[in-house]
Amino acid sequence: MTDLLTLDDVARAYVTRKGLLGRRSTVRAVDGVSLQVKAGETLGIVGESGSGKSTMGRIALGLERPNEGAVRFDGAPMPLAGTPEWRDARRRMQMVFQDPLAALDRRLPVLTQIIEPLAIHKIDTDPARAGLEALTAVGLSRDHGARFPHELSGGQRQRVVIARALMTAPDLLVCDEPVSALDVSIQAQVVNLLIDLQQRSGLGMMFISHDLRVVRQISTRVAVMYLGRIVEEGPAADVLRTPAHPYARALVSAAPAPGPRRTDRVILTGEPPNPAARPTGCAFHPRCPVAVARCRSEAPPLVPIASGRSAACHLITPFAKVAA
Ligand code: ADP
Ligand code: MG
Repeated sequence: MTDLLTLDDVARAYVTRKGLLGRRSTVRAVDGVSLQVKAGETLGIVGESGSGKSTMGRIALGLERPNEGAVRFDGAPMPLAGTPEWRDARRRMQMVFQDPLAALDRRLPVLTQIIEPLAIHKIDTDPARAGLEALTAVGLSRDHGARFPHELSGGQRQRVVIARALMTAPDLLVCDEPVSALDVSIQAQVVNLLIDLQQRSGLGMMFISHDLRVVRQISTRVAVMYLGRIVEEGPAADVLRTPAHPYARALVSAAPAPGPRRTDRVILTGEPPNPAARPTGCAFHPRCPVAVARCRSEAPPLVPIASGRSAACHLITPFAKVAA
């Protein structure tokens, strides 16, 4: 399968200033990330707040330029914002963010907003029929379509945003914390809707969440991020059942899979990660229960550790050595 989306060694730094006369500091929000999303698969991106997930999502959509590295969409370099090529690419990649109310216009009935992309992208189809189909596809009725955003529940509003995102039959959907603002009881319904729609359309999805339980539900592959870097990546079932990186192990033991309890719980200790004060060497070393001297001075590269699986940790044996 060809890659729909490829990020190749992408980095994005922000220069920030504390106070009016404060010292300028550079935050490397995303720091050398490479990943691929293929058609029909969902790449889950998980990591604590500040690990660079949203920045990476914006870069993947061409909403933000990386300082370093390259983004390719369907084999071609991501076009520059504003060009006709970019408009075409944007029709083929859509997004769903955390706050549906912010994404919708309070003054317009939701059906009007669901069919807006047809006019924007000059898609030749019957808007009334397409709108009704879209409402049905996300589990809403014609009656919901006539309502205004504030007359719907949070879950229904997110369904509206999803319906609108799918209007252009995109190849790629980037979801950034799409259920994090919803009640836990509603989250699973919306996630199941996304799974269902994706399986029917075969689109590729990047699903960003700080919540491992949600990522576990939807992902085919998972990338675990820590302070702007991927520390472990691989098939979701493998990474989330037998995480290799100490940080991934800690995340998983804090949100264990349903089923028999494992006894080897790893508790995350120490300060939460601060992107403005990135530790030397492996950024996780101050919180790592197994760190050795080398971890303080030398940043571990992301290397294959098994078929289709990578991790960035000095203490994990690389695949080549396993095979030898
Ligand atoms: P996440 O989505 O994982 O919480 P973000 O990508 O939002 O992480 O942020 C990563 C780091 O980059 C944070 O330290 C954040 O403060 C910083 N950052 C993100 N966007 C900007 C911006 N536009 N200007 C300055 N700093 C930013
Ligand atoms: Mg975020």
